[in-house]
Amino acid sequence: MLQRLIDSARHIVFFGGAGVSTESGIPDFRSQDGLYRQQYDYPPETILSRSFFTAHPEEFFRFYRDRVLHPEARPNAAHLALAAWERAGKLSAVVTQNIDGLHQQAGSHAVIELHGSVWHSHCGQCGRRFAGLDAVLNDSPVPRCACGGVIGPDVVLYEDPLDSDVIGAAVAAIRSADLLVIGGTSLVVYPAAGLVDYFRGNHVVVINRDGDALGGYRRNDVLAIAESIGPALSQVHV
Ligand code: ZN
Repeated sequence: MLQRLIDSARHIVFFGGAGVSTESGIPDFRSQDGLYRQQYDYPPETILSRSFFTAHPEEFFRFYRDRVLHPEARPNAAHLALAAWERAGKLSAVVTQNIDGLHQQAGSHAVIELHGSVWHSHCGQCGRRFAGLDAVLNDSPVPRCACGGVIGPDVVLYEDPLDSDVIGAAVAAIRSADLLVIGGTSLVVYPAAGLVDYFRGNHVVVINRDGDALGGYRRNDVLAIAESIGPALSQVHV
């Protein structure tokens, strides 16, 4: 059934969440609260907030380097399959909530990163931009620019608004898609639920190993696949 939908689609958009990256060994920090409590005085949602970053940059970067950055992670079967779909001219965009850059590492070009990327950072004082992880992976507890300002990653933290240009690009891609494939995310979480409403095509595929990811999303044309995302996508031939 999935193969047939992919065969007849010409403008697939993939919408992905944390579950896409867990198969590359990047844990979803939200599901590991207990583990963190032993090592950090605050829950992840607090540490990864804008006000915490500003008030406690040292603690922020301790958590960020230990738990958010995974420089060793490599693309998995899902990333590679989606890159192949793009090369075959079937997929117009990947919209992702992940910040790890693994889609680009797998060879995808049309990647819309709703929450930014760990692979770019900038100085909060002079605005200088830094590519790669070196700027934040150094010996000092808080990475600083030559001007003395704190260098922060270009990722959307709690309390930050989403970038309106990025949202606009995601809406445009989803609106013009003829097949929407959703994986590794729950549709009950913002912004997934809102963005999916812009889809005007006929078929939605939801791939989620952990059962009911649909939440209140009810359409009669949803194909729900209760499988791991990598194996599910790599069964498709383009
Ligand atoms: Zn600076």
